[in-house]
Amino acid sequence: MVRNMVILGAPGSGKGTQAKKLQKEFGWIHISTGDILRVEIEKESHLGVKVKQYVHQGRLVPDEIIIELIKQRLRGDNADSGFILDGFPRNVVQAEKLDKILNNLKIKLDTVLLIDVNKEEIIKRVSKRFICENCGPVIVDNPDADKCPKCRNKIYRREDDNPETVKHRFKVFEKETRSLINYYKGRKLFKCVNGNGSIDEVFERVKTVL
Ligand code: AMP
Repeated sequence: MVRNMVILGAPGSGKGTQAKKLQKEFGWIHISTGDILRVEIEKESHLGVKVKQYVHQGRLVPDEIIIELIKQRLRGDNADSGFILDGFPRNVVQAEKLDKILNNLKIKLDTVLLIDVNKEEIIKRVSKRFICENCGPVIVDNPDADKCPKCRNKIYRREDDNPETVKHRFKVFEKETRSLINYYKGRKLFKCVNGNGSIDEVFERVKTVL
């Protein structure tokens, strides 16, 4: 079963985690615009320098930059074995553009999946979210911890995971992504799962609706 899908959810909803699990189990390629931008920022590439301020302040990067990036990713052979778009589209303009790009490439979008998590849970999760140099994203109960609970390697917070920026990112999500959900809601491809609960519980729900 090949799937071309979009995964939607607030920051901290677990969409990236679920996308990674889908990639592992089904081989669909995970395309995360946030991850791509963070790598570019780290490399201090031309694109990285352009987008750094937006990402670190939790503001959306201008549509034309993001759309160009997605166009390039989808043009490669990525789409042949199925893909999961994570973090794109973020607003209605990007969704309309995605429809056009896919149309031109003669690719069908099968599913738009919303991971729905309440705001209190989001704030709680993001405050525990750290990045381990070795394991990637990890959940850590002690906010002052500096070592990974799994491998004891150094951990750090994402630059945009501080409480003020998270609040702003949530506001941006509410404003932009709510209308995006309405854009897809009327279509048969739209699916929604309850994203509260453990990673595995949510993953079972995701597989059930796909
Ligand atoms: P994420 O990892 O998906 O939470 O994205 C982190 C940050 O990257 C966002 O707060 C934005 O600054 C930027 N970003 C990621 N995807 C997009 C997008 N589709 N449109 C605009 N900005 C984006």
